[in-house]
Amino acid sequence: MVRFTVLASGSKGNSTVVSGGRTRILVDCGLSCRELFRRMKLAGEEPETLDAILITHEHSDHVNGVAVTARKLGIPVYFTEGTHRAWMRWLTPRRQMTYTQWLELTRKQAAERQAEANATAEEGEPDEGDLIADSEPVSAETAQTVIEEIQAAGVPEASETTCTAKKDPTWLPAVEYFQAGQPFEIGDIAVSPFTIPHDAADPVGFAFRSEGVRMAFATDLGYIPPNVKAQLKGVDLLLLESNHDLEMLRDGPYPWAVKQRVLSRVGHLSNEAASGFLENDYDGHAAYVILAHLSESNNLPELARVTAERALNGRASLLANRLLLAAQHEPLSSVYF
Ligand SMILES: [Zn+2]
Ligand SMILES: [Zn+2]
Repeated sequence: MVRFTVLASGSKGNSTVVSGGRTRILVDCGLSCRELFRRMKLAGEEPETLDAILITHEHSDHVNGVAVTARKLGIPVYFTEGTHRAWMRWLTPRRQMTYTQWLELTRKQAAERQAEANATAEEGEPDEGDLIADSEPVSAETAQTVIEEIQAAGVPEASETTCTAKKDPTWLPAVEYFQAGQPFEIGDIAVSPFTIPHDAADPVGFAFRSEGVRMAFATDLGYIPPNVKAQLKGVDLLLLESNHDLEMLRDGPYPWAVKQRVLSRVGHLSNEAASGFLENDYDGHAAYVILAHLSESNNLPELARVTAERALNGRASLLANRLLLAAQHEPLSSVYF
């Protein structure tokens, strides 16, 4: 039996379980390990049965929990080499600074210590909004927080491993490289990674095949180039980004530079672009179309749904396609084949 479970989708964390035959793959690990396990259990998935983690790109909403999860389960992580290097750079930022920067930092730290001593009011958790998670570059402080979480988690059953992990936040039980355009297999799931246009080191989407069922996975892309269109043909399940409504983004709270980034050819796919694909290029083969990576600031689920439905309903032959929406805060019911 083939099963596809979206655990989380959006700029605060992405994770999906693809199960086929004897193999279970986690696609992206953007939730903390604890939250990931909680959601897997909610969705009826057993974390201990995962065989591997597959990463699309290094943005924090796709990798936040990867080191802790891989260590806890003792499973390999599959990256492209470019993504792996970018992820390692993010976790081990260069700390060398010029004298002026050092002086500045020292002054700032002294001022902070002073402010802390004076502070009486309690501090709330800063709300970084939904643009930080998927907006590069990630700050050194964010990386530091992740490093501390990784170090705190350690690996309880092997003290030697814990030591290694403490010394090296990028340590993983096993790393496997793949390349876009070169299919490979994990157990009985065939994986075809393909290049997507996005502002990361070497971002990919995936097409999976197991027991004759094909599933395609395409989020975090500025537009849909011909190589991606080709991968989205003849699939039984299509998970496609429907990130923002153009008008909401234009009038929304993001700073101008971030709006430009989201709208760019290496940004995110709008509702309009997703529906344009469904109307003009989609072959109508999928039993399920899942809209994913919806922005919480610049989109509304109903708006994404109506825009996609309009595109599908325009083609009478596609009325059998079931349209689902992946959510940020709760898992989507598993799709079975
Ligand atoms: Zn993302
Ligand atoms: Zn991204």
